[in-house]
Amino acid sequence: MAKPLEYNATLTERIDLTDALTMFRITPDQMPAERPWFVPGQYCVLGANNAEKPELGSVRRSMSIASAPEDDAPIEFYVRFVSKPESENPLTHLLWKLKQGDRMYMRPVAAGVFTVKDTVGFDDPRLRVMVAAGTGSAPFVSMLRSELRKNPQADLSKWVLLHGASYPADLGYREELEGYVKSHGLKYWPTVSRPKDFPDWKGDTGRVEAFFDGARLLDFEQRLGLAPGEFTPKTAVIFICGLTGTITGTIVPLVDRGFVPDFKRIREALGVPPETKDSVFYEQYDTEPVINVKDPSVVEPLRERMQAALAKL
Ligand SMILES: Cc1cc2nc3c(=O)[nH]c(=O)nc-3n(C[C@H](O)[C@H](O)[C@H](O)COP(=O)(O)OP(=O)(O)OC[C@H]3O[C@@H](n4cnc5c(N)ncnc54)[C@H](O)[C@@H]3O)c2cc1C
Repeated sequence: MAKPLEYNATLTERIDLTDALTMFRITPDQMPAERPWFVPGQYCVLGANNAEKPELGSVRRSMSIASAPEDDAPIEFYVRFVSKPESENPLTHLLWKLKQGDRMYMRPVAAGVFTVKDTVGFDDPRLRVMVAAGTGSAPFVSMLRSELRKNPQADLSKWVLLHGASYPADLGYREELEGYVKSHGLKYWPTVSRPKDFPDWKGDTGRVEAFFDGARLLDFEQRLGLAPGEFTPKTAVIFICGLTGTITGTIVPLVDRGFVPDFKRIREALGVPPETKDSVFYEQYDTEPVINVKDPSVVEPLRERMQAALAKL
């Protein structure tokens, strides 16, 4: 049992988008003195004690920061309630009981390398294609907000955000992002996987990774203003955030375009030469293997496809 946490933050505001999706705005008692105190794309650890069942102790989990580092507190997090938790003391079940003004734990230190700075670097001229499902959009919202805090006139035309959700109402930050499309040239294509009951929905349908499937990839290229076959690591870099299904579903079709995942064991399994740079970076919210590198029936065909794609680049 994890020992009780000493609370050091207050839930300043919660915005419930749906029963299972909430933006938590949290104010730490002491903000880090250094500014900016994190890099967009990083996460913090949130925690709570189980007051109803003290015998279960406390729980802490990583959560991506959705606010911009240039902003003052509160710090924003976009969280999904996990209805089938794996642990007996799930944090999201404790968070959902909190109301405005309640105390909680937030480690006021950011961690993680899922950032532009730690991957391709700010000066990289390629399209930045951000693939998110559900609350996986949080780090990307932080990145976009930060660009605009640094320069309110920033050109966001090389940022491409693909956001998948079950229903239109689950597309958190939609209005804000649509605003950035109009005012700053952001490319934002939300997609809904269960559109049946929403005849008013005129946007894309299907899971977010379906943008990269077969004929859909040609359509995607066209929307980006690229010629057929031009969507490769020469023109774009990919960032993916969310659960394994989204990550695997994006990485696998893009092997045929020579996109190389930033994961040593996958690179090695697919025979990527050491000098070839990574072009797919991901932040994984769960612990399932993205590609089972020990299974030859999975790896061998992917290896062949990767070798063929790299030979063409
Ligand atoms: C670096 C990092 C950043 C993260 N950022 C966020 C974030 O911004 N927002 C967010 O909602 N979650 C985020 N997560 C997931 C979060 O840390 C927890 O795993 C999740 O909230 C479930 O915790 P729990 O204690 O309620 O459930 P537990 O019983 O502890 O269950 C954990 C398991 O739940 C599953 N799970 C995790 N996330 C989800 C999800 N979104 N939907 C369905 N199943 C899930 C996974 O299989 C995970 O192993 C992040 C994880 C990591 C590693």
